[in-house]
Amino acid sequence: MPSPERSAQIGALYQEMILDHYRRPRNKGDLANAEQTVVMKNPLCGDEIAVHVSFDGDTISDVRFSGRGCSISQASASMMTQLVKGKPLSEIEHIRTRFREMVMGDQAAGEDASLGSARALGGVSQFPARVKCALLAWNALQTAMTAHAE
Ligand code: ZN
Repeated sequence: MPSPERSAQIGALYQEMILDHYRRPRNKGDLANAEQTVVMKNPLCGDEIAVHVSFDGDTISDVRFSGRGCSISQASASMMTQLVKGKPLSEIEHIRTRFREMVMGDQAAGEDASLGSARALGGVSQFPARVKCALLAWNALQTAMTAHAE
C-alpha cells in the first residue's frame, strides 16, 4: 500500500490526467469511411457519445469519438481511443473487461498495466452515479465490435 502522501500525489496526478484529456481530447471527430458508428446516451448526466470504428481484419485500425458530455465521459472516451487503436480485438476485449472491473471497484484491475492512462479513472468506482459516464464510450465500442463480428 502506498503511503497517504503518495496516494494523495497519485490522486492529484490522475485528476490532472482526466482534465487534460477533457480539455484536449485525443482522436475526437468523425472518421471517414468508418465501418461502425455507435451512439450511446447517458440521460442521467446528459452525456452523448458516438464512437466511430474502422477495422482491418481482427484489428481496430482507427477509432474516433464525437459528442459531448461531462469530463469523466469525455476523458474516458479519449483514453479509450488511445488504448485500443491499432490493437487486435482479443487484446481490446481484455482491456475493456479490466476497465469495467476497475470502475466497478476491483482494485487488482485498477493496477493492471494494460489499462495505461485509463487507470486514472479508477476513482470513479467510489461514485456510482459516475460509473455510467466512464463506461459509455467503452459500451459503444463493445457494440461496434459485436456488430463487426456478425
Ligand atoms: Zn457524465
